[in-house]
Amino acid sequence: MHATEHLFHFRGKPKGAIVPKITAGEIEDTVIFFRKYFRRLSVRNLSLCCPHCKEAATPSTFSTGRYRLADEELFCDRCGETSLVGYWRLEGVQLGQQSYAEPLTPARA
Ligand SMILES: [Zn+2]
Repeated sequence: MHATEHLFHFRGKPKGAIVPKITAGEIEDTVIFFRKYFRRLSVRNLSLCCPHCKEAATPSTFSTGRYRLADEELFCDRCGETSLVGYWRLEGVQLGQQSYAEPLTPARA
């Protein structure tokens, strides 16, 4: 008789107590979480420009919106309009604006 069999002989048959049960839904939720997480990381350095006023996002707007996904909304400090972040990024690519992710170089006198 094996040592563990001897143990279970007294305690009864283990009922899924040793290996925690993970449901398919929990695995799916975890996969979705990490997929969104890496998507947020991959877009964080793209520049953001308001599709309404065509101005680059202010540093505070950029820090609010940089980790948002394309289908999430972002409010513009300059014109007061709210647009989807996907349009902000598209505008940023089209206008070629500098991203606020890099530290702004101080103006030289
Ligand atoms: Zn705007």
